[in-house]
Amino acid sequence: MKYIGAHVSAAGGVENAPLNAKAIDATAFALFTKNQRQWKVKPLTDESIRRFKENCTAAGYTAEQILPHDSYLINLGHPEPAGLQKSRTAFIDEMNRCEQLGLKYLNFHPGSHLNKIDEDVCLARIAESINLALEKTRGVTAVVENTAGQGTNMGHRFEHLAAIIDGVEDKARVGVCLDTCHTFSAGYDLVTPRGYEKTLANFDAVVGFSFLKGLHLNDGKKIMGSRVDRHESLGQGTLGLEVFRMIVNDPRFDGIPMILETPDDSRWAEEIRMLMAMVE
Ligand SMILES: [Zn+2]
Ligand SMILES: [Zn+2]
Repeated sequence: MKYIGAHVSAAGGVENAPLNAKAIDATAFALFTKNQRQWKVKPLTDESIRRFKENCTAAGYTAEQILPHDSYLINLGHPEPAGLQKSRTAFIDEMNRCEQLGLKYLNFHPGSHLNKIDEDVCLARIAESINLALEKTRGVTAVVENTAGQGTNMGHRFEHLAAIIDGVEDKARVGVCLDTCHTFSAGYDLVTPRGYEKTLANFDAVVGFSFLKGLHLNDGKKIMGSRVDRHESLGQGTLGLEVFRMIVNDPRFDGIPMILETPDDSRWAEEIRMLMAMVE
């Protein structure tokens, strides 16, 4: 079973996200559980939590089909104590919000060394941040996303993801999310059948498919290895459509949320329809 959807708006309250997902016939969705550009926001109200759960049930979404994303402000590998502390506090709050909503995943970007600490120190720090959050919450898995490797972002090599997982004590509550645009921008071929197989075999050897909890389906504006994170609508960019045809027909991606983060939200319904029609 393939779960396909988009990162929908939660404007007006998290309870609106499942409604927005249903409106585009999505079988999966992503959302921000808070304003992603602010550090501190009001806690979720009981009313909002209740209505979120009701709307999910009514639209047929289970926690397996929902991949919440954390705030872009958070840097769990921050080189400085104050920035690190602020990020860890905010991340624990996000994990708590997911727990309150009955969700089982929280998708996040690993972090950045900001040219102030070594890469391996940064990776160990990210793992420690995850350990602290897992200790303080229950039931939610921390899902690390691979990145394009823009600037000083960690997570663009599968080895980075493996090092983070290695440092996490509770392996049952850590996972990864692969973003097609980020993977390609980071220098992994996905667009030729041979490159696709080679990249996924490499991922399986270094990280392992058992850790894969989600996928982001994005075309990209930049060439392979550019290390630039610029998403594009499916079929309009440098990845093309073939990779998405291979993905929707690949049983290794069964049963996990596959989320569009493509820039034109007016095309999401059509993109979802197209992906579903590609299933052979
Ligand atoms: Zn992301
Ligand atoms: Zn992504």
